[in-house]
Amino acid sequence: MSLFDTRTIFLLCGAMGALMALVLYSLKRNYPPSIKGLGEWSAALMMMFLAGLLTALRGLAPDLLAISTSNVVFFFGLYWGYVGTQRFFGHTPRHMPWLVTIAVIVCFHLWFTYGYESLLIRLTLVNLMGAVFMGVQAMLIRKNGPMSFAKGLAFGSLASAAALQLLRVGLAWTQSLDNNIMGSSPIHQVYAMGFAVSILLYSIGLILMATDMLRAELELLATRDSLTDALTRRHWNTLCESELERCKRTGRSMAILALDLDHFKAVNDTHGHQAGDKVLVDFVTRINAVLRQIDRLGRFGGEEFVLLLPETSLEQALGVAERIRSDLANATVTPYCTVSIGVTTNTEPGDTVESVTARADAAMYRAKEGGRNRVEIG
Ligand code: GH3
Ligand code: MG
Ligand code: MG
Repeated sequence: MSLFDTRTIFLLCGAMGALMALVLYSLKRNYPPSIKGLGEWSAALMMMFLAGLLTALRGLAPDLLAISTSNVVFFFGLYWGYVGTQRFFGHTPRHMPWLVTIAVIVCFHLWFTYGYESLLIRLTLVNLMGAVFMGVQAMLIRKNGPMSFAKGLAFGSLASAAALQLLRVGLAWTQSLDNNIMGSSPIHQVYAMGFAVSILLYSIGLILMATDMLRAELELLATRDSLTDALTRRHWNTLCESELERCKRTGRSMAILALDLDHFKAVNDTHGHQAGDKVLVDFVTRINAVLRQIDRLGRFGGEEFVLLLPETSLEQALGVAERIRSDLANATVTPYCTVSIGVTTNTEPGDTVESVTARADAAMYRAKEGGRNRVEIG
């Protein structure tokens, strides 16, 4: 006697897919459109649900539905999951080779159902194809970026499901195969249960991957200016506060530079707003080229930037400021633009981020008053 009813396992496996499909569909509706692949993943799991449902009708409904249609839907479900993962990672899927492969396998499958009936060959075709789809998707997840828990879960469930497909083929060729796949043969039961668990873990992996991506996007939005990629004012302030705390503990000096492009309004008025944007982006690229990894550039608004130089003396900071100023002044680019810079360090006892930044700002305004394209100490 068997502990489990294979038909129920197939149904459960499908129902799990359907529930997860709904979760992914709600993510698709609520997450920003920049997170791609959610719709395909949701549709893929829906197809798995349908395939499970149809397979559970084996022996009750016509073979065309319970055997042939269920396997076609199964192939498309697997493939669509792979398409979703490609879209998620920003790749453009190439459908043709895969669709041709599916069509060829389906033709063989039909022949071994209605022409020369053989469960062994059908099972081999379906499971090998399944292993290939799962394998390529697992590799894609592994290749894209560092491994996280979410990716590990999706990768692990796909890899073990692929191994399960191969194991079933191996067992089918070496053991006597029960022709009733809804029967209590361990080959069919272990396969069905393993597959149900894999679908669940795979779906959870996908949901977590999407959530990770959303978190990364929100983090980027909160910490980076979208035009120049400089830090936002809020994030720069936070980093600056912890650096100032460190300086107070260690007695080290840190420098802050306030930078403001000269007559930037005229650049916009003469060359247009887009050219103005390009000047801002180029300016940040230029600054980044002279910075160390620990230096932090922030954008306070329009054409005003602030620069935090940890573990830097006033003399060193003046050197950096002068280099930035002269680089820009000597550049032979159109539209031409110069910069005024105020430089200061955390010299005053009781200095706060606000007080140091205000000193740098005041020095920058003196540079403006002194004729622009200059560096002043605050
Ligand atoms: P000053 O030398 O005294 O600093 O003069 P200025 O013209 O640079 O300063 P002002 O504050 O009068 O003008 C700043 C201009 O920056 C006005 C605004 O249109 C432009 N601006 C602000 N943000 C952006 C932006 O994101 N892109 C572009 N292209 N222009 C911007
Ligand atoms: Mg300006
Ligand atoms: Mg300004």
